[in-house]
Amino acid sequence: MNRRTLLKTGTLAGIAALLPTSSLFARPSEVVDTKDDNDFSGFRKLKLGDLDLYILSDGFIRDTNVAAYSPRANVTELKNILKDNFRSQDYIDMAINVLLVKKGNQLILLDSGLGIFADQNNGFLLKSLAKAGFTPNQITDVFISHAHPDHVGGLLDKNNQFVFPNAKYYISKTEHDFWMKATEKDFKNSGLIHELDFLKMFIPKVRSILTTLKPKLSYYDYQKALFDNFTFVLAPGHTPGMTLTKIKSANEELMVVADLIHSDVLLFPHPEWGFSGDTDLDIAISSRRKILAELATTKTRTLCYHLPYSGLGYVKKSGSAFQWIQEAVFVP
Ligand SMILES: [Zn+2]
Repeated sequence: MNRRTLLKTGTLAGIAALLPTSSLFARPSEVVDTKDDNDFSGFRKLKLGDLDLYILSDGFIRDTNVAAYSPRANVTELKNILKDNFRSQDYIDMAINVLLVKKGNQLILLDSGLGIFADQNNGFLLKSLAKAGFTPNQITDVFISHAHPDHVGGLLDKNNQFVFPNAKYYISKTEHDFWMKATEKDFKNSGLIHELDFLKMFIPKVRSILTTLKPKLSYYDYQKALFDNFTFVLAPGHTPGMTLTKIKSANEELMVVADLIHSDVLLFPHPEWGFSGDTDLDIAISSRRKILAELATTKTRTLCYHLPYSGLGYVKKSGSAFQWIQEAVFVP
């Protein structure tokens, strides 16, 4: 089964939809060159206090394995929600919203898109970065939320060279240590346990990326701010060390929640359904509920990596669950 077939059949769900088949490892250059005529690059610039923010598009991920998207969902109900929201019932699309923060001469990137794992729908980060007026050499720091391929795939090129050669890298120590010794057994409470071949492929690849990064890698300190504006919050479950970034400048605040939640219409009303890529469904659901409740109470502006572009909005309580209010955009 080739990679395209895997994507079409949706054998690999969610983060897996992204992922490498053996052909990828054998001939990675073919993967990044198969973009057809699609161009999903672009950026949106906004201010947060004294900081300039750019939301860069890496494209999107199309997950065709709708029945496995939320491991604890009632699939009939899930499909009805998609229909009620005028979404396809044959696939679920997830954006890839990569944040770039400009603080003086510092350029801080939060995750890196699919890069070497890209298919025809994604891998546009560097093009979006160029459109925003920057080069990879200018990136000074990269905050890694977690080590799934759609977040670290853009850090190294197919020759294992640094895409952002002048950057320092930050990750949770828990996250780093998990991938260094992870086995299929660590996914026994995950939808991914049904994808053993896939796990056997992608765990070593993630480990290899982190090993290459190691000399330039620092661990988050959850107790104090970095570069004055950034603090970090551990949100385990999707992966053991997934880390959210809170950005503050002047009186403004933004919570970057990475992969806390993957669907606006499905998982806000049903956070308990879980997501196919969650490493531990129970812990992920608990973190999702807890942090969504906090964001709703504090009315904090939020950026989600996988929600419809540009991923900015607010969480509201809705009965015993939640609702996503996408930030209105009035100019292109
Ligand atoms: Zn992701």
